[in-house]
Amino acid sequence: MIIVGLTGGIGSGKTTVLKLFKKLGCDTYIADDEAKKIMNSDIELIAEVKKIFGDKAYKNKKLNRAHIASVVFNNKEKLNSLNAIVHPKVRQHFTNFVKKSKAKIIIYEAAILFESGSYKLCDYIVTVTTPIEERIERIMKRDTISKEQILQRIKNQLDDEYKIKNSHFVIDNSDAFDAKSQVSTIYNILLKTIKK
Ligand code: ADP
Repeated sequence: MIIVGLTGGIGSGKTTVLKLFKKLGCDTYIADDEAKKIMNSDIELIAEVKKIFGDKAYKNKKLNRAHIASVVFNNKEKLNSLNAIVHPKVRQHFTNFVKKSKAKIIIYEAAILFESGSYKLCDYIVTVTTPIEERIERIMKRDTISKEQILQRIKNQLDDEYKIKNSHFVIDNSDAFDAKSQVSTIYNILLKTIKK
């Protein structure tokens, strides 16, 4: 079994690419989604989040994402503190997921794969790229978020240049390219590395 980290900036198409890997038989894990679930259920973590963001961090026992987002928007320190307490929990959860999986290839999707240190869990790393203008257009279609908020999030993440340099594979998911055939090529290369 191998673990493949899948990263890329917001709106680059990570989840779209993840689904293509899943269709080929990989087990898939979306770190952001699991982090949200854990932040709503892990009592120890809930207490730590409240320490950083106050009681307002939870509303009716659910994470108050609007409050958290408004605080971290201009406070990188708090964003880092949040990541520092959430990511070890996600990694632990992922380790259990891996133990239960029978797949040959597990794909771990995280926008902040490098920033969170989770790249260390991975045997291979795939970065998805799309030009920023195209990403902004796609996100504005997908979410109710302003261009300013998108640019702020992009600013809080490592740039593509760093990600590409530190990856084994790069998928170009701009409109001009066919992500499906790139995924299939990478999948076949990965399978060969297991058989060796
Ligand atoms: P990420 O997980 O990196 O934030 P998503 O996979 O959610 O990105 O893609 C962002 C949005 O762009 C989604 O609404 C998705 O359907 C759309 N999208 C993804 N890939 C393409 C593509 N090649 N062409 C057009 N739209 C795309």
